[in-house]
Amino acid sequence: MKCRRCNREAQVYLKSYNISLCKECFLELFKRKVLSTINKFSMFSFKDKILVAVSGGKDSLCLWDVLVDLGFNTEGLHINLEIENHSSSLEEIAKKFASKNNLKLRVINIKDVLGVDIKKASRISKREPCRICGMVKRYVINKEAEYFDCVVTGHNLDDESSNLLGNILQWKKGYLGRQAPLLEEYGSLRKKAKPLCFISELEILYYVSLKNIDYFPYVCPLSKGASSLFYKNIINQIEYRMPGTKLRFYKGFIEDKEVYIKKESKLELIPCQRCGYLTVNKICNFCKLKEKVEASSK
Ligand code: SF4
Ligand code: ZN
Repeated sequence: MKCRRCNREAQVYLKSYNISLCKECFLELFKRKVLSTINKFSMFSFKDKILVAVSGGKDSLCLWDVLVDLGFNTEGLHINLEIENHSSSLEEIAKKFASKNNLKLRVINIKDVLGVDIKKASRISKREPCRICGMVKRYVINKEAEYFDCVVTGHNLDDESSNLLGNILQWKKGYLGRQAPLLEEYGSLRKKAKPLCFISELEILYYVSLKNIDYFPYVCPLSKGASSLFYKNIINQIEYRMPGTKLRFYKGFIEDKEVYIKKESKLELIPCQRCGYLTVNKICNFCKLKEKVEASSK
């Protein structure tokens, strides 16, 4: 199989685009795609300080690598969630990547901010681990990003399209209104961007393997039964039968969002009475959780 662009031996075949590419052309196209997403949504510029949320998995390491390659000014943030047989390896890999590439990485341990690990927090609050985990991560990242112009996460096309499917099936209009490649800064809530949102998990896998990036390949043990995995499985089955569907589905929604969802009236957010984080209630969810954790240890 020959590369469609240069006729060298191809190393990558992307069924959704029906295209074969050699290593060099694939990596070049990959970088260009990320840059065009950043520019299209005016996510950030070369002058900005960018905080990359780095888990140690393939998506966030791929994102950090591309942004560095493109010449952006980045720093990493890793949150150790203290999940048994999981979190310490992730931290180690994130640290290795940073030191190998001479990059700055901040590491925050969940027990230092919350007092307990995610599993225990989920038990105390009687809510699914992923819900608690997502909320805590958003809170910590936002706090750590105080002196940055933008926070970026490694959410990819598979994450975004499956999320979209789930939100449509349940008609979660609020989530649909906020589902976007870029969330602008709002008060103390930092600007958040997803530069990989049009890039599939498969393309990311090719990228990390062609660039020899070491990543943690196992799924989180707490994700068992999570609805996000169920929707991902469904959208992958559709993609298998009809290649290119994921991209058409997500892109179509983003480009014509106003046609499907009425422009959301801005949520009335007020500062949390405990910590100042913007929230819809008097006390934010993080402070409420912390209160429960403290009460449980008495
Ligand atoms: Fe957190 Fe759920 Fe992701 Fe595990 S799968 S890291 S619990 S959000
Ligand atoms: Zn608070």
